[in-house]
Amino acid sequence: MATPSVGCRRGCLRLTALAELNRTILLCRDHVIDELSDEEICQCFESRKVLCVSDRRNLASYSGQTALFTLVSLLSRMGMQIELAIPDVAMLFTQPPMSGSSVRQALVSSSESLVSGATVCCDSTFAPEIVFVVGDTQFEGNHVSCWRLTGSDWWGALAMDRTTGVDAWTSEWPVGSMISAALAANEAFKFVMRRLPLRGQADRVFFEESQSCNWDFGAVHVPEEGVDLGMVDVISAGAICQAALYALMRFPNVRMSGRIFDDDLTGASNLNRNMLSSVADIGLLKVQVVARCCSAKLRLKPIAVRFPGDSCKIGQLARRVLVGVDDIPSRWEVQRHAPGWIAVSGTSHFGVSSSAHRPDEPCCGCLHPVDDPVGANPIPTVSFVSFWAGLAMTVRLLRDALASSYSANRQHLWLTPLRMDLPHAGMWLPVAPRRDCPAHCLASRVL
Ligand SMILES: [Zn+2]
Repeated sequence: MATPSVGCRRGCLRLTALAELNRTILLCRDHVIDELSDEEICQCFESRKVLCVSDRRNLASYSGQTALFTLVSLLSRMGMQIELAIPDVAMLFTQPPMSGSSVRQALVSSSESLVSGATVCCDSTFAPEIVFVVGDTQFEGNHVSCWRLTGSDWWGALAMDRTTGVDAWTSEWPVGSMISAALAANEAFKFVMRRLPLRGQADRVFFEESQSCNWDFGAVHVPEEGVDLGMVDVISAGAICQAALYALMRFPNVRMSGRIFDDDLTGASNLNRNMLSSVADIGLLKVQVVARCCSAKLRLKPIAVRFPGDSCKIGQLARRVLVGVDDIPSRWEVQRHAPGWIAVSGTSHFGVSSSAHRPDEPCCGCLHPVDDPVGANPIPTVSFVSFWAGLAMTVRLLRDALASSYSANRQHLWLTPLRMDLPHAGMWLPVAPRRDCPAHCLASRVL
């Protein structure tokens, strides 16, 4: 058999990258000029060089390690090139889907495995354009954009380089570290968008860099023995549920068993956001990929059925259900079948919607009463937007298990994570019951 020429192999790699970043490219098309080719947009992501820096002290905590792993994952899923300037420290916990004997080895091993061509290396000749510094690590900036990731158990922040008032990562609960990583990935995305010609000059405001931004999900007391979530059913093994389970696996001492439903196979175009999937998983059932990746921490039975599908195979739903399907009528169907609490998260372009519903509260049908036919088309997405949707859902699940659910005026969260430095980027809202609720929930029937 003839050996493929170098040119041919390069051509194949280009097609692979275009397929894997397809949904991110589609999202950019909301704002870039029509004349720009997919290849040019793809190239602009792939040519970005990002340096991630941490010292030993900040990687000595579980939250510091989780901030770095989550950041590298979110950046890689945008196709970017990453250099690490970190010491070789032992892994404190597993960080699926990445694995290795040390933090550095696990991250470098992930090179080109999450998205083809997205490298992770420790090459000192690398000239970075953007720098992310973990916690209070000492770093001398060299005239490139530089942000610090900081935070605590339940809140996370990002700020352009400054060392005063910044603490090292020491917290054990990792919500804040994952928030800071999502805030950082957003800045890297906007860095790319500022280098692409936009259709309207007014759109530039969406992609301005943030000097500082933060988000707080609110602290909750966690008992020393941890959290038992009991049985949880997960509807969809797509981007949002993968992000939710990615987050859930990173909590120390959380116990959960349940089922995950989806009949879909992992496709190349899922890799830009599916946090538990890698290039090697293309063609495999999503439920198998997710159940295998979670197996070290969570017991999830994979069921290759689309909900509601075959009710004989599904039976009664668990008392807690996570719903990550885009299809609105499927959400109503889950709500009609759910005997207890459900959480629903979804994304639309740069927007995130996340809500939770007890049986006596206005349901997801009251919140999303109209079907959205656009859902049938390829959906524009990017790693950090889907990640916010999953993370918000996981926080709600933990809070419900800890009997600390948000109050009624926080039943719905609408988040637009592009400009988290601006007021109203995240809005907590109540859900009003509707007489015409398509799920005919209790709250709608007593109006
Ligand atoms: Zn309802």
